[in-house]
Amino acid sequence: MTNRRIHLCLARMSGTEQTYVQEAFDTNWVVPLGPNVDAFEKELEKYTGEGRHIAALSSGTAAVHLGLILLGVTRGDEVLCQSWTFAASANPIVYQGAVPVFVDSEPDTWNLSPLLLEKAIRDRIRLTGRKPKAIVVVHVYGMPAPMDEIMQIARQYEIPMLEDAAEAMGSRYDGRLCGTFGDYGVFSFNGNKMITTSGGGALICPSSEAKKQALFYATQAREPYPYYQHEQIGYNYRMSNICAGIGRGQMTVLEDHIAHHRRLAALYNEAFREIDGISVHLNPSEQYDSNYWLTTIVIDSGRTGTDSETVRQHLESQNIESRPLWKPMHLQPVYRDAPRYLNGVSETLFPTGLCLPSGPCVSEEDVQTIVKEIKKCIRK
Ligand SMILES: *Cc1c(COP(=O)(O)O)cnc(C)c1O
Repeated sequence: MTNRRIHLCLARMSGTEQTYVQEAFDTNWVVPLGPNVDAFEKELEKYTGEGRHIAALSSGTAAVHLGLILLGVTRGDEVLCQSWTFAASANPIVYQGAVPVFVDSEPDTWNLSPLLLEKAIRDRIRLTGRKPKAIVVVHVYGMPAPMDEIMQIARQYEIPMLEDAAEAMGSRYDGRLCGTFGDYGVFSFNGNKMITTSGGGALICPSSEAKKQALFYATQAREPYPYYQHEQIGYNYRMSNICAGIGRGQMTVLEDHIAHHRRLAALYNEAFREIDGISVHLNPSEQYDSNYWLTTIVIDSGRTGTDSETVRQHLESQNIESRPLWKPMHLQPVYRDAPRYLNGVSETLFPTGLCLPSGPCVSEEDVQTIVKEIKKCIRK
């Protein structure tokens, strides 16, 4: 048993973060807004490329929420949302008083099924007489969704798209960065994502006007008067100048982190190739270029004589953290009444899959240890 716990995905500092944080202290910018926030937004804009404008926010969840607000989602609307995701993709739909309509995944990427998406759109129009207000697509564990087909459907039915790239910073589809396809995109800088600001997120906006609107809602919807005037409901969603300092330091290691996650996925794949019944989820074709935020495996219990929960418990006994795949939103008790369009894909993934340690703190040696321990569970 290893003494050091191997975590799923822990943040790692570059060493330059403290310079920026210190600068904030030295200049007494210990507030939301400030030079680190401006600089971090600029660096993210350079990263996401021309035509994209970044609003740095207090969390990825806040970014999802503001994205929906800017798409005009409001009480009584329906929003189509990938069912197989983390709850933060869906909860802000409910914050807006709207109704999430969950759509299942397709088997190659494990993300939004274009077939079911179109079926859901037609069916909702038939049932409610109205088009769904928006589509929330997610690149789960960094694997890009099939964006060509999804964009084509979104365009055909003229439904705007919010692209949740919280787990997919640095992933590419057809060479283009995930997060830059949708009308709005979302990054998360939570402690376990590709880079961290300890907690934070960004809304990727299509124009400087949209960014201004996002920051307006993120700053309590305060109108430009000398006194506090409010004509809309606002939120306190801005990123602090301290957190943005950490973000600036993290930008210097983003590419290293991405390369490391990808190297670990390749190592896992190499190691599991010889094991019948355990497969690593990989890019389905050249079009896809996952950041492999988390390497995920599926365990065929018929061929291995074990299952994902047995493996998880064994790893835990060896001080190695692993985690079941996301439980689909349509199976969550809180969403028991939400409409859903299903094909069985996410319900099959949930009980058979496992996320393995993948962060910058996981070494190549750790991968060998983890694989060795998983092999011990195999009974065939
Ligand atoms: C982490 C995550 C979020 C939310 O980001 P926070 O910064 O933790 O609020 C949203 N969507 C997905 C898919 C995530 O994994």
